[in-house]
Order: sequence, then C-alpha cells, then structure tokens
Amino acid sequence: MDKIVQYRVKGIEAQVIAVNSLEAVKEMQKIHQASYTATAAAGRVLSALAMMTMALKNPADKISIQITVDGPIKGIVATARENGDVKMDIYQPLIYLPLKDNGKLDVSGAVGKGTLTVVKDMGMKTPYTGTVPLVSGEIAEDFTYYFAASEQTPSVVALGVLIDSQDVVLASGGFMIQLLPGASEETISYLEKRVGELDSVTTMLGKGFDTDEMITSIFEGKEMETISEKPLQYKCDCSRERIRSGLSLLKKDDLQAMISEDDGAEVLCHFCNSKYHFDRDELGKILDAK
Ligand SMILES: [Zn+2]
Repeated sequence: MDKIVQYRVKGIEAQVIAVNSLEAVKEMQKIHQASYTATAAAGRVLSALAMMTMALKNPADKISIQITVDGPIKGIVATARENGDVKMDIYQPLIYLPLKDNGKLDVSGAVGKGTLTVVKDMGMKTPYTGTVPLVSGEIAEDFTYYFAASEQTPSVVALGVLIDSQDVVLASGGFMIQLLPGASEETISYLEKRVGELDSVTTMLGKGFDTDEMITSIFEGKEMETISEKPLQYKCDCSRERIRSGLSLLKKDDLQAMISEDDGAEVLCHFCNSKYHFDRDELGKILDAK
C-alpha cells in the first residue's frame, strides 16, 4: 500500500515527509509502457509530487508539475490532488540508456537540460506558479533547487526508484525535509551533518525500508511521531464530459475536418490511455454550440 506520511521529530524544526510509491509507479509504468530509464525519471517526479500534496488543504486543491527538457525523454507532466491521486504523462517513455559507469540509472542523461514548473492551484484566483532551470536532471536536486529558489525553503529532497534490467520496479519512494522558518542553528547543523552521512534512498529501499524506517534511520535515536498520513494512488480523473469540453476548445475548421474527413474523432487520454469516441452527430453538436 502506497502512502504519504508526515512526521514530527522531537527537537528538529523541520517538516519531515516520506513516501512509499511502489504501486503508483508500477501502474504509471504499465500505462506508459515505460523503459527502466524513463520509469526511474518519472517515478522520482511522482514521489516528489506526492509529498508536495501534504501542503494541500482542500479537496479541490491540486499541484501540477511540468518538466520540459532537451533530453531524449522530452518531457514529463503530472498532476496530483489533495486526496493523493496522481496522474502523469511521459512524452518519450520508450528510451533505454545504458547504465552509468557506477552502475546507476542514467536519469540525467534521459532528462538533459530544461525547466521545472510547479503550478499550485489552491482555490485562489490565480494559481501559484514557479519555474526554475533544472540543475542536474537527477530530479531530486532539481526539486531541492526549486524549493530554495522559488519557495525560499531550504530543503533536502531524496528520491529513489529501484528497478531491475528487465524493467521490473522493485521499490520506489523518498523523503523530504524542509526547514521551518526561524529554524535554529542546532537543527541546521544537525541536518547538514546527517545528510552527508546518509545512505541513498535506493539503498534504503533495497534494504526493504518503509517510510517509518527511512525516517528512523535519518533521525536515529530521536523521538518521532506521525502527524498526518494519506494513501497515494495512480488515478486519472478524465471523463467523457471533460474530453468534450476539450474538443469544444478546438478551432471550428478542425472540428469541421473531423466531421467531413474522418468518421468522427477518437480521443486518447494521455494520462491513462482511455479512449473516447465522438461520432459525427456529437461533433456536430459541439460545433453548433460554438
Ligand atoms: Zn484519463
């Protein structure tokens, strides 16, 4: 069972969140038929986004991520809702890059250079939007930089997807530690020291660690408690109605062409592969309503 958990650690003035995203990443991989390289990249994005939903308060709130890059993966878009539903699309999911010399997945090679945009829709008139350049293409560093540059929040973001050469995802998850405003020197120096000593998330996942065990291993010996927990699942919210309103935004000429040249329109949802067929009559009604 995937979950997102927020912790309070005694004596540490920071927000501490961890995620287990194995099932969601497996579902994402199945939908997109993603290679191990693409799954690792997109899986890390999924984990980071899932943890960011802990900042959402209302059921209608959502966060979207847009990564636009010049690497072979081309781009990743994802949206998560307050309830822990996540959906995503990978522009080029079939890319296979050889492992790096150190045996690690070449995520930065797949991603290359580009930008990370975060859109937080929290019921305000205008959603909050922040865009930063990618600093490494390894995803975790890119989110760390995003939090520092765009949200002025010093953070540690660590993400991992454990996957074998047959594309089988074995584990996926991560953690995020964000300093609270006015955090003490003790907290800052403690975290700086610990972060340098920590195992990578992939190593922790390889040991079979769950979210509690990850956080316990980071803050060894300190008292901690769970303050909030919610499920995470890969779930698309597309519907015929939603696709219809998308079609109604097309130009009249394009709609006319679908009616006269094609036998209606088949629309594929890029987040879940659901197909929606609209026949000529229905397209005609959409056209008439414009
Ligand atoms: Zn869908």
